[in-house]
Amino acid sequence: DVTATKGNEFEDYFLKRELLMGIYEKGFENPSPIQEESIPIALTGSDILARAKNGTGKTAAFCIPALEKIDQDKNAIQVVIVVPTRELALQTSQVCKELGKHLKIQVMVTTGGTSLKDDIVRLYQPVHLLVGTPGRILDLTKKGVCILKDCSMLVMDEADKLLSPEFQPSIEQLIRYLPASRQILMFSATFPVTVKEFKDKYLPKPYVINLMDELTLKGITQFYAFVEERQKVHCLNTLFSKLQINQSIIFCNSVNRVELLAKKITELGYSCFYIHAKMLQDHRNRVFHDFRNGACRNLVCTDLFTRGIDIQAVNVVINFDFPKSSETYLHRVGRSGRFGHLGLAVNLITYEDRFNLYRIEQELGTEIKQIPPQIDQAIY
Ligand code: ADP
Ligand code: MG
Repeated sequence: DVTATKGNEFEDYFLKRELLMGIYEKGFENPSPIQEESIPIALTGSDILARAKNGTGKTAAFCIPALEKIDQDKNAIQVVIVVPTRELALQTSQVCKELGKHLKIQVMVTTGGTSLKDDIVRLYQPVHLLVGTPGRILDLTKKGVCILKDCSMLVMDEADKLLSPEFQPSIEQLIRYLPASRQILMFSATFPVTVKEFKDKYLPKPYVINLMDELTLKGITQFYAFVEERQKVHCLNTLFSKLQINQSIIFCNSVNRVELLAKKITELGYSCFYIHAKMLQDHRNRVFHDFRNGACRNLVCTDLFTRGIDIQAVNVVINFDFPKSSETYLHRVGRSGRFGHLGLAVNLITYEDRFNLYRIEQELGTEIKQIPPQIDQAIY
């Protein structure tokens, strides 16, 4: 059980009283295993490389020590949290604000796609904790408006994604602006071997946490259905009529297909939003916000939405298009089954996908079964 703990309590970490209040008001009773491991170590100032399953509470595992370490009387950015997508930046800043509700810590979120000028103006006000995407943070830092000389903690959430060629150069440049005494915390559910070089260079002796020994996608029942490409919409329609969907996320492999599918689903008479990286940021924010609030049941998206997004009401994930890599599969399917909830994943598999299906099943050591005619409602 992802929520089972060693019996530690949040009181054990000697946190500021205001922070403890925020934690309890958020409804957290006991630390999850990743929080038990990482909070005390992060407070010692050690670098951390932490791997833990989707939905097990990694965000609070770094936000709590970050908020604890910030000196609110000192007007300086003391913590930077870097994440790969804008939506995740918003979500993470929200968690910081909620946990830090009773502290006087100024949290700022900064991402591409929004006005740079506004960000510059906001940085003239006190900011203690900055959450954002790599490109924009680097931009502001290079311009000299974001000053990181007192930033003693850098958190990389979805760290392996931040080390993809798209982001790694920005991350490395950003690190050069940090003081020598900086601490780096890397979190993800996946750490491919490619991370090693970066780790050896920047966190030579991190405290390593690996909570992946239990079954990776525990709590999520996974099915496949063999279909032909042209039957996919029909198949989806059948799924919609048979499944008890609380909220669902439906993944496609391209922006075009997202838009086409969303149109088809609407025509079928189901409520549906879509989101992808080619949309304007304002529009993206609105969709994300509305979906989170339950204004709409189904969301069609690209892998923009694969990582980190935490919406507990999502009980069904559908791979309308099957992903190519096991990492992408894991992050997509991990959007359901958050924090011990159950979830269901359905994969539409064409003839060409077969080989990938078997490979991903093996690589993840998980079981993806053929979809039965009836699915027991109790499993998701
Ligand atoms: P991860 O980053 O590991 O995928 P998240 O940090 O997004 O997971 O957390 C998943 C969900 O679990 C969130 O909705 C969060 O509010 C909830 N959660 C985290 N820690 C606790 C806790 N100690 N007690 C109860 N719920 C928690
Ligand atoms: Mg996360």
